[in-house]
Amino acid sequence: MSLSLSADQPTVPDDADDGVWLECIECGETFAPFDDVRYTCDECDGLLEVRYDDLPTLEDYEGQGQGVWRYADALPLEEGVTTQEGATPLYEVPRLEEDIGVEALRIKHEGMNPTGSFKDRGMTVGVAVAKELGVGRLACASTGNTSAALAAYGSRGGMETLVLLPAGKVAAGKIAQASLHGARILEVDGNFDACLDIVQELAQQGEAYLLNSLNPFRLEGQKTIGLEILEGFLADYDTVPDRIVLPVGNAGNTSALYKAFRELVQVGSLEEDEVPKLTGVQAEGAAPMVEAVENGADEVRRWEDVETRATAIRIGNPVNAPKALPGIRETGGTAISVSDEEITDAQRDLAGEGIGVEPASAASVAGLRKLRAEGIVDDDERVACLTTGHLLKDPDAAAAAGAEPEPVPAETDGILEHLSE
Ligand SMILES: *Cc1c(COP(=O)(O)O)cnc(C)c1O
Ligand SMILES: [Zn+2]
Repeated sequence: MSLSLSADQPTVPDDADDGVWLECIECGETFAPFDDVRYTCDECDGLLEVRYDDLPTLEDYEGQGQGVWRYADALPLEEGVTTQEGATPLYEVPRLEEDIGVEALRIKHEGMNPTGSFKDRGMTVGVAVAKELGVGRLACASTGNTSAALAAYGSRGGMETLVLLPAGKVAAGKIAQASLHGARILEVDGNFDACLDIVQELAQQGEAYLLNSLNPFRLEGQKTIGLEILEGFLADYDTVPDRIVLPVGNAGNTSALYKAFRELVQVGSLEEDEVPKLTGVQAEGAAPMVEAVENGADEVRRWEDVETRATAIRIGNPVNAPKALPGIRETGGTAISVSDEEITDAQRDLAGEGIGVEPASAASVAGLRKLRAEGIVDDDERVACLTTGHLLKDPDAAAAAGAEPEPVPAETDGILEHLSE
């Protein structure tokens, strides 16, 4: 099976372009990468992956600069439409590390990307591919962050953008970004999954180029999260992390990190048993992946009604499940769901270490705490938690989770009196 950790280097098909091609994960059919617009397999409608003739080892990146394009040799193009995404911090959190009780805990804060989420890593590649393909309009369905990133990278690339958002379910910061960067914003009377169904139909009809994570090129950019985490752990601990815990919505990141690690195993930079255990976290009200992992299922059952205050992962039909489920399974990882209360507690815990994240991001830390308490994560593990978006993305959630402002009179004595109460 092409998605196994021990898969061999594939043979280069005739339709490869400069050693790059697309391959169906279900039937193995191959396609030229930039000749036609295509999101899934012509033969069987399976998901596609980008494949390479010649992949770099970890050592090959030495001296290659910073950020996503440091890893250009593992990407389908040499350069992107860029605002210097990537190279995000891998924060130490000593109090949280001790409190949760693991050997090492680091927070990979993807909220420190240019538009405040990891979506930028995918868009710098995806929008560049769109230019290569010569398409006109770009589009996505979004719980918010994809639309912010698409609007920003689309405008940087000089292209028209269209975003479909579930009405009333997108955090304020994200709409503001899409709006100012000049996207046409369509507020759909339906949930995210309905928006994605519609935008896929628009894309099939040639109305727009789809930049959701169904687009295999976006996931190539997101691989770089995994590469940065490995390099950071190797520099600081001389070993890769035992486990990476991440929030799961459409499971694009889970798929992308797994692909990054598979490619490193292929070139001999990583042993199969060294690959970090990919551990997904969902909100209780939107946990179809957790259900599938718990049942040992090969497919995910679509949840029609989903609800959580972590709006970025309010998704009932994770489109990348066929790529992500093997990733969780083959790395010995797992998946767990957490309540909205647990998410908010973790958001406060991170804030207490000076790290500001939006609710969905905090799910990773909430999930780690729960798995540690249940003894599924051991106390000798070195763990990276991914926090996917910045606090300012969802100012309402932050204000609701934080302290209330206290009204005081405009004079010092009155304030001193108030403080002494
Ligand atoms: C998009 C997003 C997610 C979900 O990521 P997937 O790759 O779709 O699983 C999680 N958190 C935030 C903040 C996001 O913007
Ligand atoms: Zn196929």
